[in-house]
Amino acid sequence: MHSSFREFLDAIGVGKDDAIVVHGSFRAVKRAFPGIAPLDVFDAVADAVGEDGAVLAPAFTYCFKKKRGESSVFDRERSPAVVGALAEAFRTRPGTLRTSSPTHSFSLFGRVAEEVGAENAPLAPLGFGSPPDWLVDQPRAFALLLGVGFDGFSFVHYLESYYDAPYVGVNPWEDIVDPPVGLSVAGEQPLEEAPGCSKSFPKLERWLIDRASFRPRVAEGLRVSLVPIDRLVEDSREFFEKRPLDLLCPREECAPCRVRRDALGENK
Ligand SMILES: [Zn+2]
Repeated sequence: MHSSFREFLDAIGVGKDDAIVVHGSFRAVKRAFPGIAPLDVFDAVADAVGEDGAVLAPAFTYCFKKKRGESSVFDRERSPAVVGALAEAFRTRPGTLRTSSPTHSFSLFGRVAEEVGAENAPLAPLGFGSPPDWLVDQPRAFALLLGVGFDGFSFVHYLESYYDAPYVGVNPWEDIVDPPVGLSVAGEQPLEEAPGCSKSFPKLERWLIDRASFRPRVAEGLRVSLVPIDRLVEDSREFFEKRPLDLLCPREECAPCRVRRDALGENK
């Protein structure tokens, strides 16, 4: 284990029995902790939360059935996570259980593995019944963001579902995927929601920081946030009531977000 990273987790407040979802840029972690390997990050988090804790990370593969060309087919045992070196290291770590969503599977370790289970593949992949939904019910749950902001934080898609953002039922990928269907070796799974673009999620991040919901810090040059999930959910409520469309990019900058804006305009 990388001892200075392990000590760092104590210093920022990761505690025994906590449930932690980890999002990170390995490149950023490595700059701050030279010599660290991707697996060291998860060994340290698992050690910090202990045997009654829980560790989660995305293992997304985005295996949608495409309208044209060849589609990748999700294999729970074999498909690599396509969301970075940390995610892939955790997926292949001994003791990790991977869930079955063809598009948005998670890697799970500790009590969450037993409680959520390998079969987990909800119709809204990041909504009701998903691993993020499990996290919300935990007494001490946090997101650990290592060198990434909310644009790399898929939990915000859960909030879109939870607060029923006005665009959440609109498929933003209709140019490529229509209707949204997940594709796995087990077959096709029609989806009720297709999580969209996250490029504008830093607007929610800024809004929460201004309200002191959490405080990012910089340690050894690494920007780190330990975000309490209960505060995140509660403090986001007003944002979703007042300005949910701020989570979509400006119309001219982003095709998937434009699809959603257009659909809302037609429905008004
Ligand atoms: Zn966008």
